[in-house]
Amino acid sequence: MSPTPPPGRITPLLRGLAGRCPNCGSRGVFKGIADLQEHCPTCRFSFVREEGYWVGAMTVIMALILVVFGTFFVGGMLLTWPDVPWTGLLIGGLIINGLLPVFGYGWSKTIWVGLHLTFDPARAEEFRPAPDGWSDERSDET
Ligand SMILES: [Zn+2]
Repeated sequence: MSPTPPPGRITPLLRGLAGRCPNCGSRGVFKGIADLQEHCPTCRFSFVREEGYWVGAMTVIMALILVVFGTFFVGGMLLTWPDVPWTGLLIGGLIINGLLPVFGYGWSKTIWVGLHLTFDPARAEEFRPAPDGWSDERSDET
């Protein structure tokens, strides 16, 4: 088994932003609403590349929350000044800060893996071996 041929430089990041496998671009990488499979069901790339790997995904989700909440809060203030609807901004802020970490965490993982693959392409040993009876054009080892 070998890694997928190297895509364009930022292609893994774009695939991660789209919520797809950063290595091959296939769908079906999520497990439930907020988590990622251990490996891609199509190319079998293992998403956990090293111990403690999801610390990077936590950084990504915190950055996403900061950008979304900051845009909502500052944009809301600027658009409605001087009669700022503080209660509406408070409720919207609570919703953003409460729901985005839960529903965006799996997405932050695909973004993180895509960001990492952009700078450190996949190696052959990062692919899970195919189960018995599984075959495609990449399982040509004997
Ligand atoms: Zn894949």
